[in-house]
Amino acid sequence: MESKKIYLSSPHMSDEGYEMEYVKEAFDTNWIAPLGPNVNGFENEFAAKIGSKAAAALSSGTGAIHLALKASGVGKGDIVFCQSLTFSATANPIIYQDAIPVFIDSNYETWNMCPKALEKAFEKYPEVKAVIVVHLYGLSADMDEIVELCKKHNVVLIEDAAESLGTYYKGKHTGTFGKYGIFSFNGNKIITTSGGGMLVSDDEERIEKVRFWATQSRDTARHYQHSELGFNYRMSNVVAGIGRGQLKVLEQRVAKKKYIFEFYKRELGDLEGVEFMPVNEWNEPNYWLSCMILSGKVKPIDIMEALEKENIESRPVWKPMHMQPFFAEYDYVGSDVAEELFKNGVCLPSDTKMMDEDLERICEIIKELWK
Ligand SMILES: *Cc1c(COP(=O)(O)O)cnc(C)c1O
Repeated sequence: MESKKIYLSSPHMSDEGYEMEYVKEAFDTNWIAPLGPNVNGFENEFAAKIGSKAAAALSSGTGAIHLALKASGVGKGDIVFCQSLTFSATANPIIYQDAIPVFIDSNYETWNMCPKALEKAFEKYPEVKAVIVVHLYGLSADMDEIVELCKKHNVVLIEDAAESLGTYYKGKHTGTFGKYGIFSFNGNKIITTSGGGMLVSDDEERIEKVRFWATQSRDTARHYQHSELGFNYRMSNVVAGIGRGQLKVLEQRVAKKKYIFEFYKRELGDLEGVEFMPVNEWNEPNYWLSCMILSGKVKPIDIMEALEKENIESRPVWKPMHMQPFFAEYDYVGSDVAEELFKNGVCLPSDTKMMDEDLERICEIIKELWK
């Protein structure tokens, strides 16, 4: 008999049924699309939760990065520094804007953008227009250093916080340090709306402008008039209803993700060559995925294959952008940290619906590889 499938991280609606209440309200009032009270509600509740002045609900995190770049004035031929160790959705919008990415290495202390590499990049490309830093797996980047460097060089900082909703750096929510922060509600993120994104900023005027671009840039006129390029990037009222419900269980999800991480660390932390992702004293992660790096005989592929045989999902750490065929022509500043993390890293199943018996089973399968 095939054993029960365990996912890396899958949608988890609230036991209380919060999402259905908001969605039902949208149906009952026939307020399905496009905008509506759930969209406004979700934006306001989200901004309040993370401590940002304004938020625009969009159809994806990728769309949010795209409009953050546009709002930063990034256009044709401009240089944008982008963390190399990330998902391709961080970098693709740079190309949508006809701009030029320069990829930046990570450090072992944070797994995110290395401030030293960033400083070198500023020396090499003083004309840079914007910087995109990522908070991978819910670990925060070294924000004091990165904010300081961007200020010194007078460059816009964009935070890709797609994986870090619920993560704090020195008590302040990730995504609120830069001029713009973006979040994702894709199916495998810590909370989900089935698909969606949020762009946040303390600049309310810029957020208003983002909403305008995201609804096809329609000028105020009875006829359809456009004086700017438009996008169809707005979140629907039904989707926003799911988001409002999910937001209520964010703390529950973070608590469970942390429990999962600590369970693995306790059970697997002493195995030879195992090192878990770094949790710094200034970092309160959301533990979106539990990841570790291996330096001994057992390789990530051994763990992934052993788990796959048991119908359990796991995955390598992101393959850096400077190693991707599509981005091969672009420059890279740093050494081999991102590459080493990719080669030696593995993301363990981090689904919040797992029971202790699931976690025990996973740990047994992994420990077997050391025997
Ligand atoms: C998921 C993710 C995105 C993209 O978000 P979507 O909502 O799927 O478009 C961007 N960056 C990172 C780091 C992500 O993990």
